[in-house]
This record gives sequence, structure tokens and C-alpha cells, in this order.
Amino acid sequence: MTDTQRSSEPVHIIGAGLAGSEAAWQVAGAGIPVVLHEMRPTRMTEAHRTPGLAELVCSNSFRSDDAANNAVGLLHAEMRRLGSLIMRAADTNQVPAGGALAVDREGFSATVTKALHDHPLIKIDRAEIRNLPPADWSNVIVATGPLTSQPLAEAIRDLTDENALAFFDAIAPIVHRDSIDMSVAWFQSRYDKVGPGGTGADYINCPMTKPQYDAFVDALVAGEKTDFKEWETNTPYFDGCLPIEVMAERGPETLRHGPMKPVGLTNPHDPTVKAYAIVQLRQDNKLGTLYNIVGFQTKLKHGAQQRIFRTIPGLQNAEFARHGGLHRNTFLNSPKLLDSQLRLRAQPRLRFAGQMTGCEGYVESASIGLIAGLYAAADARLQSLTPPPSTSALGSLLGHITGGHIETIDAGPRSFQPMNINFGLFPPLAHPPTRKPDGTRLRGTEKTVAKKQALSVRALSDLDRWIADHLRVAAAA
Ligand SMILES: Cc1cc2nc3c(=O)[nH]c(=O)nc-3n(C[C@H](O)[C@H](O)[C@H](O)COP(=O)(O)OP(=O)(O)OC[C@H]3O[C@@H](n4cnc5c(N)ncnc54)[C@H](O)[C@@H]3O)c2cc1C
Repeated sequence: MTDTQRSSEPVHIIGAGLAGSEAAWQVAGAGIPVVLHEMRPTRMTEAHRTPGLAELVCSNSFRSDDAANNAVGLLHAEMRRLGSLIMRAADTNQVPAGGALAVDREGFSATVTKALHDHPLIKIDRAEIRNLPPADWSNVIVATGPLTSQPLAEAIRDLTDENALAFFDAIAPIVHRDSIDMSVAWFQSRYDKVGPGGTGADYINCPMTKPQYDAFVDALVAGEKTDFKEWETNTPYFDGCLPIEVMAERGPETLRHGPMKPVGLTNPHDPTVKAYAIVQLRQDNKLGTLYNIVGFQTKLKHGAQQRIFRTIPGLQNAEFARHGGLHRNTFLNSPKLLDSQLRLRAQPRLRFAGQMTGCEGYVESASIGLIAGLYAAADARLQSLTPPPSTSALGSLLGHITGGHIETIDAGPRSFQPMNINFGLFPPLAHPPTRKPDGTRLRGTEKTVAKKQALSVRALSDLDRWIADHLRVAAAA
């Protein structure tokens, strides 16, 4: 294909978060001009704090980086193979976090912002898009995320005649490292797991006795909560992101089996005494000056957070850099509204990407931005792109969003809900492994591990073939 066969129209991308930034990088990388529209800092969201592109609004973790055994680790690997800017920026700004890939959030955002700013084919326009894009924008990616500004959200709702659902996501508090009492707390990763970029001692652990734990749970249940706004009432929590006080309300033991589980850790200050519960804090910035309390998303009022979290041994003098909070989320009923290339059936010039499509998480949002970018670039070149293999993490997630999930059990309400990547989304293996290389039978968890590893091997090999057969050919045309 020659340049004259390319559309001279730029691709307009609305929203420069995780998905929009990655999409812009992919489109520009294919030689197509991009206008990237971002409303910050002129207009902020409830969770963003900076003008930086691809700002991480909560945790600084991209979760497991283990491509052989973990679905999100596999998604990392696939994105790296596709030249992902988000993964490059994450790798460049990695901080130690046991088995996880965590990043210095400011460095990460700065790397993405600079790469996009410096790209000769990308123009960044700092303005809110308050309505449906003008009719002469023929190739558009909407990647405005879970906190899409209200005027645009309403315009999209009117166009689709479909209520975008709203539910709660949650922010865990961040405390200053030097305010944590290390004569009580200690550094250790669960089971001393080293992981990528870690040391085996990456988390700060705070031990609790049974009386301390019981009093803590009572305080959480009784603590003063923020009021719901009118639009927030009657919306369900996403189960993977429950506020800590809601977990406490579900029963006194719930937290001990969730974020406060006391397993795989030994208190060096008192090695013979087993803690009844343990609170973990994870490094939040490169300097190591900030730590977030793992799993402590909350809608407690700020005063109640300080009072209750300071009853945790080791945090009695904790200074909070950021309190926990709760925010709405917006996503489409994508299996119904979008086609297999993420285009709105009602108006195919509009393509959606990121959390708005019903994926969940930084990495997943960026990966859907990546594929939306490849599709938009193919459209601009007047080519069609064969979908990524359904056996890959990228293809599995895309399949879930664009039709893989439609449940009609009992003709009840539709059940499409945001989803993290997981091996449950992958097509099953034709011949699941049953034996070890030495010929002996696989048993119990060995079988599960072997199955995950076989799914990963299949995914990467199929993705490599797809890249060679379809993307390299397109790039060369
Ligand atoms: C409070 C909260 C906490 C979360 N915590 C986590 C977490 O810890 N880990 C995790 O993996 N995921 C988390 N998520 C989920 C999700 O993965 C992230 O929100 C992720 O950033 C989504 O990527 P995105 O690109 O779809 O949206 P975003 O990254 O939010 O990007 C959307 C961009 O669009 C801009 N924008 C919005 N409306 C307009 C408009 N009308 N015109 C122009 N620009 C606009 C916004 O300013 C923003 O920059 C959280 C979500 C929320 C809301």
C-alpha cells in the first residue's frame, strides 16, 4: 500500500488515559496522524490529580508479571511483543513489589507523556469533548474511561439508547514510610517471594493480636462513612473491589481470610508468636517514601480513616499522603452495542477502548486501547485486520467484551460485568496435559499449573504467528 492509499484524515482519540495513550502510540506507529484529546488539566475527574497522560488513579501495580503461570503476566508479554508504550513505560519505571510489576506512578506517567508529546504524528489537544464527535471525524476512538465526563457520557447514552451502568471502584489510603513504626512492623513478602524486580522483602507488615483485630473490625463497622450521592444509590459494588468496611460487615472472620490474612509471614520482632491478622503495605513510589495499605479501599470519612487505621500496630503515628475513597465507574453493555472490532454498531465511525468497554484494570484497559489502535490504523489504510487469535490473552479479552459473554439464564437481567483477564476466558486446550515430562501422572494442583502453562505457550505461539502473518504484512504494504 502506498501513502496515497492511506486516508489523510487523522484518527481522533478522546481520552489520554491508559487506553487512549496506548491507542495513539499504535496508530502513530502505523504511520497515521493522530489528534489526542484530553480534558485534564482544564477539567479534572474525581480521581485524577495531575495533568499527566496515563495517570494511575489508585494502586501502582500492574499485578503479576509471570507470563508462564498468570493471565495478566501473559497479557504483559503479549503487549510487549506488540510494541506497547504502556508496558515500555512500566518496565522503565518499575519499583520492587514481590511477585508483581509495580511502577513509580509519576515516572510512569512522565514517560508516556513525553513519548506521545515527542511523536511527530501525534497532536495533543487539551480540551474536553462535551458532545458526540463532529460528523467529519470519520475514524474516532473513545477512551474516556470509568470517569467519563458527564456531558459526553450522556451523549453516548442517548446515542446507544442503553443505560451505561455505574458501580463503585475504590482507592486505598497511602501513608508516608517514615511515619511507620518499624520496631513493630517488618519487611517481608508473603512466602518470601522474590518476583520481578523484588527482593523477597518488599512489603511492610503490621501484626495484630485477636483483641486488636476484633476491636478493629468493630470500629470499621461502626465508623462514619461518606454519604452516597444521588446517582450512586442502588448501584452494586464490583466484588473484586469491596470497601474494607463492607468486607468487615460480612462477618468478623472475612478480613482474616482476605487482605489481612496472616499466612506466609513471620514477625522477626516476635518469631514464636503467630499474628492473628496482618495488614500489608506496598511501596507506592520509586523513592520508597510512600506505601499504600493493600486492599484497604474504603468509603470511611477521612477523620474515621485516620482514627481507625492508626489503631493498626505500627501505624499508630501514620501520616496519610492520600486517604481512601470511592468513585463511580461507567461502562457499556459492549456485547450488545459493539461489533467484533469495538465499533459502535449504531455509528461505526466511533470505536471504544479501555474500561468503558467493560474490561477491568490498567493493563486490560491499555490492551484494549492497543487493539483498538491497530484496528483504527487498518481502517485508515483501507485494509482489514484479521482479529488476534482467540487463544491469546488479547483475543480472549476482546472476545469477552465483544460477544463472548452473553448470559440468558432464566431470562433475567443481562449479566455483562467488568472483567479482569483470567484463564477462564481462554478457549480450553484440545489435549490438556496429564503427564509430567518424565511420564508420571500429574496430580491435583500440578494439573492446574501444567494447564495454565500450556495455555500460555499456546497463546504466545499463536500470537507470534498472527503478528508475522498479519501485522508485519500490513506494515510492509
Ligand atoms: C477510582 C478508581 C480506582 C481504580 N483503581 C484501579 C487499580 O488500582 N488498579 C487497576 O488495575 N485498575 C483500577 N481502576 C480501573 C481502571 O483500570 C482504571 O481506571 C484505568 O485507568 C482505565 O483506563 P482507561 O484508559 O479506560 O481510562 P482512564 O485511564 O481513566 O483515562 C480516561 C481519560 O479520559 C479523559 N476524559 C474523560 N472524559 C473526557 C472528555 N469528555 N473529553 C476529553 N477527555 C476526557 C480523562 O481525563 C482520562 O485521562 C480504577 C478505577 C477507578 C475509577
